[in-house]
Amino acid sequence: MDVIVIGGGVVGVATAYQLHSAGHRVCVIERHATVAQGATYGHGGAILPTPLDVWFGPTLTKSPRAPRSGVVYRPGLNSRTRRFMQRLAELQPPDAFRNQYRRLRPLVDASREAVAAIEASFNFEFEQRSGILHVVRHAREWEQVQSALDLLREFEVQHHVLTAAECAQIEHSVPADPAFAGGVLFENERLANCPLFTKLVKQVLEEDRGVRFMFGRAVESIRLDNDRAAVELALTDGTRSSAREVDVVSADAIVVAAGAGSLPLLAQAGLTLPLHAARFFALTAPIAYEECAPHLAVVDTVRRITMTRANQRVRVAGAALVQPEREIAKPATEPLAKAATAVLAQATHDWIPGAAKISAAHAWDGVQVLSPDGLPVVGQALHPRLFVNVGHGPAGWGLACGSAKVIAEIVSGATPSVPPDTLAALRADRFTD
Ligand SMILES: Cc1cc2nc3c(=O)[nH]c(=O)nc-3n(C[C@H](O)[C@H](O)[C@H](O)COP(=O)(O)OP(=O)(O)OC[C@H]3O[C@@H](n4cnc5c(N)ncnc54)[C@H](O)[C@@H]3O)c2cc1C
Repeated sequence: MDVIVIGGGVVGVATAYQLHSAGHRVCVIERHATVAQGATYGHGGAILPTPLDVWFGPTLTKSPRAPRSGVVYRPGLNSRTRRFMQRLAELQPPDAFRNQYRRLRPLVDASREAVAAIEASFNFEFEQRSGILHVVRHAREWEQVQSALDLLREFEVQHHVLTAAECAQIEHSVPADPAFAGGVLFENERLANCPLFTKLVKQVLEEDRGVRFMFGRAVESIRLDNDRAAVELALTDGTRSSAREVDVVSADAIVVAAGAGSLPLLAQAGLTLPLHAARFFALTAPIAYEECAPHLAVVDTVRRITMTRANQRVRVAGAALVQPEREIAKPATEPLAKAATAVLAQATHDWIPGAAKISAAHAWDGVQVLSPDGLPVVGQALHPRLFVNVGHGPAGWGLACGSAKVIAEIVSGATPSVPPDTLAALRADRFTD
């Protein structure tokens, strides 16, 4: 089949890879001049989410105190944004959390296999390394993470539960004083450079496999009929209003994998999903004192902030800004950007003091899509020729490889590599049932 993939982030490129591997002719359409320019650019590093990383569950609260929750929450009077956070909060009780993670888990496993298969096929170097230390400040928060620890045991994820003193011993940059509740070490969980991975896969697809990439072209709308699907394109410098020309590309099927750009496109085609865009922030700072720099990636579990060393720099990523979507589409106001980066700076100060020169940090932010039940939307939607791969959230880059495989299997009419209850939990129509 001829398949159009809309979006050149890690999700779109991984989808193109799996579709091509399944024997389809693929065209990727991306509004930027190259791949990995959206949320994919801002990754924190961790490839796959453990139960401690997912964006749902007992520790995800919308505390009005952003330094505590890691979320700067400004819903204003917007009922859609409030409803979105309420739905996420429904997954806070341990049982609800456990059930939802069990649905996600087969996708994590499929993704691990898909990433490993790509690595084995091409011998790619994309700064892969292992070792993640999660740290938890307060006794109450430690209580909240217990259901995640149960899941680690249930799924036999290799990990070590540590006291604060043991954490400080293993990772010298983390101070044992002031006291904190404890930590969890994942020696084998991996980190890597997501934009580099995306570019390497794109290079193979374009140069060796004949996948077509159309850059600098924005999809304006999707047309669906019984015989064919098509997209209307504008030549653009990245903004819809500057469109100078429109033309049409048709195919047998379309996969929407356009990150935050997916929601308006789908809405225009008639599919409104209760997903919500949120802005996430990253700081890249020079190392201040070499002896204070971390060897492992250190993750503040409750604030969901990842602190990683990358050569002579420390990268700190996390801090979500949740506000009405019309606001998210615009750059963050200075006070809100300051509030979000202050959350990152505070985590750096708390957990790896002296490691990073935050005053000299380069700040970056990007928009990504969260789902109200923590799971991406993966599968066919609205029309037999339309497929969606979106909403992987802030712990989603490795998941992209598994969800791409599932999409390719569905498009090809093959048996999906995840079980039926996971497949059902990923479908777009789960929100209307
Ligand atoms: C600060 C930060 C830290 C993160 N840390 C991690 C981490 O540690 N681990 C992890 O797993 N994940 C992390 N993530 C999340 C991860 O980066 C995202 O889940 C993932 O990159 C989403 O990829 P995507 O392809 O869906 O979106 P994007 O990368 O945003 O790609 C979508 C693409 O579609 C294009 N597009 C949109 N609309 C159109 C249109 N109409 N026509 C043509 N093209 C269009 C855009 O230009 C964009 O290139 C982080 C994200 C951020 C922002």
